Amino acid sequence: MDLQLPDASHPVRQKFRVFLAEHPSPSGRDLAEAGYVVPHWPAPWGLDADPLSQLLIDDELKLAGIKRPINPIGIGWAGPTLLAGGSTEQQDRYLPRLLSGEDFWCQLFSEPDAGSDLSAIRTTAHRDGEEFVISGSKIWTSYGHIARYGILLARTNSEVERHHGISYFVCPMDLPGITIRPLVDMTGDHAFNEVFFDEVRIPAECLVGELNEGWTLAKVTLMNERVSLSGEGALWGRGPTVDDLLELVRSDPRPLAPSLRRRLVDVVIEAEVLALLRQRLVSSVLAGRTLGPEASVRKALADEHGQHVMLLATDLAGLAGQLQGFGPHGTKESDALGWSHGFLYSQALTIGGGTKAVQRNIIGERILGLPRDLEG
Ligand SMILES: Cc1cc2nc3c(=O)[nH]c(=O)nc-3n(C[C@H](O)[C@H](O)[C@H](O)COP(=O)(O)OP(=O)(O)OC[C@H]3O[C@@H](n4cnc5c(N)ncnc54)[C@H](O)[C@@H]3O)c2cc1C
Repeated sequence: MDLQLPDASHPVRQKFRVFLAEHPSPSGRDLAEAGYVVPHWPAPWGLDADPLSQLLIDDELKLAGIKRPINPIGIGWAGPTLLAGGSTEQQDRYLPRLLSGEDFWCQLFSEPDAGSDLSAIRTTAHRDGEEFVISGSKIWTSYGHIARYGILLARTNSEVERHHGISYFVCPMDLPGITIRPLVDMTGDHAFNEVFFDEVRIPAECLVGELNEGWTLAKVTLMNERVSLSGEGALWGRGPTVDDLLELVRSDPRPLAPSLRRRLVDVVIEAEVLALLRQRLVSSVLAGRTLGPEASVRKALADEHGQHVMLLATDLAGLAGQLQGFGPHGTKESDALGWSHGFLYSQALTIGGGTKAVQRNIIGERILGLPRDLEG
């Protein structure tokens, strides 16, 4: 599979370079208005870009050292859901500032008793005139404390089969009755939150799609989440890669214990397999196919690979690896891409965005055609 990209004379590259000449340090808004945040989306949000154009735009951004706005949940999976199921008014209202990164978004799905079994949610929304009244609680809400809006699943009918009584809302995070409590994770970071809803009134226009049919949109969100979380770095596309690890090891003249050498070779092989799987996904898209459950194959492998990379980095550091702030061969964390932080964070990879058991259920049932999970 040859993914050699066309050179600078390609019209997509030319157009980007004109944009860059006009906006030498483009803001999130500049990038969003030009369609470069989500080029694969239809106009006016994106450029209806075919897969080759997307690759070229990504390459141009990389060459110019320009990063897209940071709003992972907003751009990665709330936005695509609004595009799929939101009204034109909702799209016009929310998407410009979502894509520019001016409004940060969070995801209010998981509850204490509804994670993998998401359709068991108990948070309720009942209609009262021109508003819905929300009561209940959510957990593991990443960035809930800094988000302007959240995508919210709530039960709007308890009398029917549970998948058909759920509705999908946009929830402004500053409404009276919302209490946000921090959950500090084992890296010491505060990213997660508990969010409590005490008879919170949200305007009826915040309902996305049809009443009681939110499960269909929830599936759109979850599929986009799975695809978004499968980039190249070891930590959901962020963080170090095997090449970074190799570079550090090569730069140290001391001999390497055979067990560490073997594990290093193993993670290199995993990385090669993942790169090939990624190329296969890209060529599938180039051939015009829509991605389905195969995204779970890459996520299942990539999550465990990330853990192997970070564990190996810690072991390479020897005793220093047990100290916060050190990486392989005692390198200081600032020189070593946050290895010890990454090791602690990597434990989350096989849980968030669907646990490793859930990915295996999807692969077993939807790709291999095995009998359904007894729990499901
Ligand atoms: C870094 C991170 C960020 C997150 N951010 C958000 C967020 O912003 N918003 C949000 O709503 N949620 C968020 N989550 C929550 C995440 O979606 C849930 O943790 C996840 O869905 C698992 O649910 P749970 O924690 O309730 O575990 P459970 O579902 O209770 O699972 C417990 C264990 O049982 C296993 N299990 C469950 N069901 C089955 C089954 N059918 N077959 C086999 N094994 C099974 C699981 O694999 C797991 O090992 C985040 C999680 C992480 C780690």
